[in-house]
Amino acid sequence: MTEHDLTLIAGDSSAPADEPLELHHLIDGTWIDSADGETFERHSPATGQLVSRAARGGTAETEAAIKAARQAFDDRRWSDVPGAERAKLLNRVADLIDANRARIARLETLESGKPISQAEAEIEGAANIWRYAATLAWNIRGQSQNALGPEMMGMVLKVPVGVVSIITPWNFPFLIVSQKLPFALAAGCTAVIKPSEMTSSTTVLLGHLLVEAGLPAGVANIVLGYGDPVGALMTTHPDVDMVSFTGSTVVGKAIVASTAGTLKKVSLELGGKNPQVICADADLDEAADAIVFGVYFNAGECCNSGSRIIVHEDVAEALNEKIVALSRKVPFGDPLHPDTKVGAIISQAHQDKIDRYVREAADAGATVLLGGAALAVDGLSGTFYQPTVVSGVKETMPIATEEVFGPVLSVLTFRTLDEAIDLANNASYGLSAGIWSENVHTCLEFVKRAEAGTVWTNTWMDGYPELPFGGVKESGLGRELGSGGIEEFLELKTVQMRIGKSRQKWV
Ligand code: NAD
Repeated sequence: MTEHDLTLIAGDSSAPADEPLELHHLIDGTWIDSADGETFERHSPATGQLVSRAARGGTAETEAAIKAARQAFDDRRWSDVPGAERAKLLNRVADLIDANRARIARLETLESGKPISQAEAEIEGAANIWRYAATLAWNIRGQSQNALGPEMMGMVLKVPVGVVSIITPWNFPFLIVSQKLPFALAAGCTAVIKPSEMTSSTTVLLGHLLVEAGLPAGVANIVLGYGDPVGALMTTHPDVDMVSFTGSTVVGKAIVASTAGTLKKVSLELGGKNPQVICADADLDEAADAIVFGVYFNAGECCNSGSRIIVHEDVAEALNEKIVALSRKVPFGDPLHPDTKVGAIISQAHQDKIDRYVREAADAGATVLLGGAALAVDGLSGTFYQPTVVSGVKETMPIATEEVFGPVLSVLTFRTLDEAIDLANNASYGLSAGIWSENVHTCLEFVKRAEAGTVWTNTWMDGYPELPFGGVKESGLGRELGSGGIEEFLELKTVQMRIGKSRQKWV
């Protein structure tokens, strides 16, 4: 298959490069450089242009940020603010995000390689998550227990957990910090935030908006840098009460181990190897379009990527033909072009990893129906990968069990629904799963038996702030979003009150 069969959008090599951004830590309301003057750079994965130069945090900056968040929590400058006032501030942040959408989206695209139209939609969606979290700040309420007998009354209060370390990945930088921080703030917590070293800029922009919105100093602090030492210290420091992490399962497991020493609360959104079952009675045109969306969205660098389809033998060939035909129509190329749907791969090292999965599968007997190689895009020197469809995949191949995190679809086949569900559940991950069938009973049986945090029937990868998101098995612990999104950041405090002098003396 040659690249000429694909829909490619060339880069505009005559376009002037953006001025690189200088990024600083936000600690106790002040923007600062690292004490040792160390920095790190991020270049666009699509063009190689320098996008940002960031202060590189070390132990001193991380400790200072944790100290500021601890102080801000302990003196109750935020947790004493009434919920309605906290909500007002979150709504102000949402309005500022909207007002700055174009700038935030452009930086997100430059650093991550994702298409600009998608980045704009993500920033718009993020603003709405801030608004949704604001509604929850109004509604923090516990319980009363009034059947403890005539002499006692019980109350269960909900109180903020405390200082939260928020650690985020590179694939949806602004969206993911917006799935955590507004809920933590709504609950009355304070935070230290570390974005991925590859995509720091938009979290820094968010920091500017928080200051502009009037968030008190020290309530949200940002430290830029790497997992070692910044992230690691954020998970071991005794002054941190909770870690909210999104990223790989490998790092998620390391965080569980490192928080054990101080027994922190941990919430983890990790990887996925999400199956979609396509039954013989499915609407194949609808399914093919959603499959193509599910695997190429964000160049497949997506925890929810629908990268593993399990299709009934009788329709496998017809479905494969539709998927390959649609894949050729998806515009790959310049992330800054408004028509592009799939942009650059985050780094050369990651692209090499994607390619290895495809080669190993081909060597083990799978058939590469489309793609399977790097993609050259006119006018752009960065890293791109071809839309890739691999059929004849066996359930034991790494391409079927591990996150490829690229625009690569694995096709497995089945004969009976039991077999399909076994294949779907045969994974260490359990983030999302889906089924395509015109029979509602088949869909419901799958819903009941699929081992996943989210199940889609006759659709893929819709998302709403109102609905919880998270995984089972090795895809994570806890849930974000939904009305329970704030609960992750709240603790229960039990109050037992005696009425009058009714207590029987012990001595
Ligand atoms: P990663 O685990 O390599 O890094 C995530 C973050 O952790 C980064 O900020 C990194 O600097 C930091 N980090 C690295 N080592 C650390 C350590 N020892 N202690 C503390 N922090 C550390 O993940 P990534 O490559 O940035 O992102 C891709 C992964 O994220 C994929 O596995 C993907 O599935 C997952 N992800 C999950 C969801 C979800 O909601 N379930 C969403 C997006 C991405």
